Parts: sequence; C-alpha cells; structure tokens
Amino acid sequence: MNWLDVIAEVDLADGAAELFRTKFGGEPDGVWIAPGRVNLIGEHIDYAGGLVLPFALPYATAVAVRRREDSTMRAVSTHTDESWTGELGEIGPGTPSGWAAYVAGVSWALREHGVGGVDVAVHSSVPVGSGLSSSAALECSFALALSELFDLQVDRKVLIQASIRAENEIAGASTGGMDQNIAMSAQAGHALLLDCLDGSTRQIPLDLEASGTELLVIDTNAPHRLVDGQYGARRQALDTAYAELGVTTLRGLDVEQAVSGLVDDTLVRRVRHVVSEIGRVEQAAALLDRGAAGTELGELMTASHRSLRDDYEVSSPELDSAVDAALRAGAHGARMTGGGFGGSAIALVPSDLVQAVASEIGSSATRYDLPVPTFLTAEPSGSAHRFF
Ligand code: ADP
Ligand code: MG
Repeated sequence: MNWLDVIAEVDLADGAAELFRTKFGGEPDGVWIAPGRVNLIGEHIDYAGGLVLPFALPYATAVAVRRREDSTMRAVSTHTDESWTGELGEIGPGTPSGWAAYVAGVSWALREHGVGGVDVAVHSSVPVGSGLSSSAALECSFALALSELFDLQVDRKVLIQASIRAENEIAGASTGGMDQNIAMSAQAGHALLLDCLDGSTRQIPLDLEASGTELLVIDTNAPHRLVDGQYGARRQALDTAYAELGVTTLRGLDVEQAVSGLVDDTLVRRVRHVVSEIGRVEQAAALLDRGAAGTELGELMTASHRSLRDDYEVSSPELDSAVDAALRAGAHGARMTGGGFGGSAIALVPSDLVQAVASEIGSSATRYDLPVPTFLTAEPSGSAHRFF
C-alpha cells in the first residue's frame, strides 16, 4: 500500500528556499504556503451557483519569492525542469503556456494594484493534476506573496479573484472558484460551506474522530484530463439549460421543476445532477452541524458519486473502481472528488476498517489493470499563510 507522507511545513519551506538559492542565488524575501483540498460533497456545482463543502489538506505548496526592481519574472519548480523567464507586459491569455501560467497569471491579474517583477521558486507536497487542487495552492501561495511583498493593501477576496482569473484566463482552465476560496479561507478542524451564488462562507467543525471515522483520500494516479474541453462542455450545457428555462441559476428549484422544462435527455441529466447535488450539500451541512459524520453522510457521498457517474458523466473507470471497492470493504460512503475524469476519490471509513478498505481498493485496481493508487491522510487544515 502506498501512503503519501505529509511533509512538515518547515521542510516544504526549506525545499522552496533551497531551489531558490540554487537557481537564483541569494536568499528569498520570504516563503508563503497554501494548501491543497478535498471536497466532501458538492461537485461540479461551484460554477453553477451551488453550494460546496471542501476542506484543506495537510499537503501544501510553498513559494520562495524575492522582489525585483525591474518588471522581469522568473519562475522555477521542483516539479519540473521547465522554467520561465518573461516580462510582466507580455503575460496574457496563453502566454506563458505551461505551468508558469499559474504564477504569471496571478501577477497579471494583480497588475493594476502595483505588482512588479519577482523571482519565484516552487516546492509542493500536493500531488499535481490529481484533483486535489495543486493549481490553486500554487496560485494562492503566490498571490499572498505578491500582496505582502508589494504591500498591495487588498483583502483576501481580491487575491481569490486574481487567482481564479489566472486559472481561467491565462492558464485557460475553465474551473469554478471553490479551490481558491478554500485555499485562502480554510480553518483547521473545519470544513467550509461556500455559497457560490453570493460568495458567503460558513465554517463548520469537522471532527471525524469523534464520529469514529476517517476520510481516506485515494489518488488513482490516473491524471485527471480536463484539458480536452469536457469542463467547458459541462458549463456550456448549463448555459443552454438556463436559456431554455429562462432562469439565471438553478438554485432554489427542485428536481421536478428544473427538468420539466427540458426536452433533451442529456440536458435533463446534467441539470438533475446540479439540482440534486445542491440538495445533498444542504443535507450534509446539516449533518455536520449535528456532529454526525457517519453513515448518513456516507450515503450522501455515494449518491453524489452515482449522480456524477451517470447523470453528469465525469467519472472514470479508476474512480468507479476505487468507490465500488471502498463500499464493498465497508466504507460508509465514497465518491470522486475534484473535476473527475481521473484524479482522486474519497471514502468515509469506520476507523478500524481503514487498512481493509485501502487494501480492497488496491486489489481492485490490480484486478482491472489500473494504475496503483496512492493513499493520503486528510486532517482538515489551515489556509494560506506566510511561513517566514
Ligand atoms: P490539480 O489542481 O487538481 O492538481 P490542475 O490541472 O488544475 O490539477 O493543475 C495542475 C497544473 O498546475 C499542473 O499541470 C501545473 O501546470 C500546475 N502546477 C501545480 N502545482 C505545481 C508545481 N508544484 N510546480 C509546477 N506546476 C504546478
Ligand atoms: Mg486545479
């Protein structure tokens, strides 16, 4: 069984600072850290004005950053040999391409607030491209660095928006705002109920141990594949549904109401997922308010997975294998988390069954000739902060 170690913040920060010294010489002005996340429930509805319920993971991204006196930007990462050097003025949609878009895009989105050139070195313990939000961890750690180094005098809401714009407009990934919100607003020991319609948030205590459960995170090691336009296609389907129904949001509708005005079967299923998923998040939040993170929460998670698999069609054989195996081995519930098409799943498991569930998930992957999964620890963790 492969378990992914949590890297202590001091070692994460050291990794970034060490790369900084090697590539740029001298010391960084500081190191900033932001977490990856899992979403307990509420999938593919952040961009539909829904409710989501993520929490931050103890896996995070550290950026070591130093201010420059010119408008040049240099970016390196321990994750890749590909480095980027460019001018702030040349950043725009598609430029730079590749991973540097996620940092350059943040500088671009904050340009009017007075951001100058920087050198940045990145080191992360968040699996990259596994649906655990390495992209927002990168954007948000860097956004916080810029805001402090250039004394931008903006609050975190502005940094969240800048990070979303970097991802949508410069990196060209058509994702919603859940990941940036949780990276910037997470509280240790809590999940965040985020209302994507009005941006309001509520911290909900999440004490899994008190419920005798653990949340097992399963990275299927099948990289999620959002780039092929599936994400955009789902968003487009919802736009079509809004137009046909004459509404601007599906919030407040029940499933019957929402689908009765639609003809196309695919559209019916897409809308049914969104509306039913919003309902499940409301129920899950009510359960957590009562401190009940057991069987009922598990059932909601499994229902969420089936809806994502059958109605929204964003699951994959790797995710289905992990979810089915977890349920077979006694998990209260399981579902894909993140964008889907590969990436990660989560399972709510009675504490004494964690090893058995992990083992069954591993055997199932072997049986179906799928990549060997990696397991992660999920302690609800804190938000982006300066390390030194
Ligand atoms: P996820 O956010 O689920 O990990 P995304 O596809 O949204 O997946 O983002 C992954 C992309 O973010 C990577 O392909 C890379 O471009 C960029 N990225 C994230 N973390 C790092 C890192 N530590 N170093 C370099 N690039 C990174
Ligand atoms: Mg991402």
